[in-house]
Amino acid sequence: MQDLLDVRNLTKRFGGLTAVNDLSFTLRQGEVAALLGPNGSGKTTALNMISGFQPASSGTVLLDGERLTGRPPHWISHAGVARTFQLVRVLSSLNVEENILAAVMFRKNPPAKETAQEEVQRLLEDVGLAGRSNENAASLTYIDQKRMELARALASKPKLLLLDEWLAGLNPSELSIGIGLISNLNEKGITILLVEHVMDAIRALCPRAVVMNAGRKIADGATAEVLRDPEVVRAYLGG
Ligand code: ADP
Repeated sequence: MQDLLDVRNLTKRFGGLTAVNDLSFTLRQGEVAALLGPNGSGKTTALNMISGFQPASSGTVLLDGERLTGRPPHWISHAGVARTFQLVRVLSSLNVEENILAAVMFRKNPPAKETAQEEVQRLLEDVGLAGRSNENAASLTYIDQKRMELARALASKPKLLLLDEWLAGLNPSELSIGIGLISNLNEKGITILLVEHVMDAIRALCPRAVVMNAGRKIADGATAEVLRDPEVVRAYLGG
């Protein structure tokens, strides 16, 4: 499998603070990997640079060999990177269908209206919201808002999906639903990078883990091995 994402020497400085320090890793097409680390280690900042929401101070990000660094978020979205945010973002004055339709129409070459509406129905089915088109987005339960957010991310037909603590706050039964949804997406060929703290989910979903501490990568490899690494245990698992 060829590399889909290639992060090279990515660095972000905020004044005197280096939030991400010379971060390099690659993701192969079809991989699901976790980006782990204690709070403040630079994970969200890394996602922000990959998705263009924050400019890098230095370093490069390539997707399928194409340079993303220096491009604005909509360009990166059109190139095939979608993300979710720590706080769910919905268009609260619209219903479920309209929220997802808006995301479909945001694509580089949006389909005709009828095709777009069919696509929305497929996306609703994919995330378990079939038949819920007319519900007000603002009145959805938390898990259903998360489902809708995922459908909005998928509407861009991403090659790479960045999930920022998408599973946080779910109860145990919702968590197994969430894990199932993510694993279905991966089976459809989407490469996924998860920033996540829920260990059971990481073990279930991610054969590979990259660990950051104080802006630097401290481990990268098979999740089971990475989680036994003494430096990771010290920095992240509180050993
Ligand atoms: P994580 O996602 O691992 O919790 P973050 O990427 O959010 O870590 O933050 C990494 C470091 O960068 C932290 O010290 C944080 O306070 C700092 N930081 C993040 N965003 C900003 C910003 N916009 N301005 C200044 N410092 C920031």
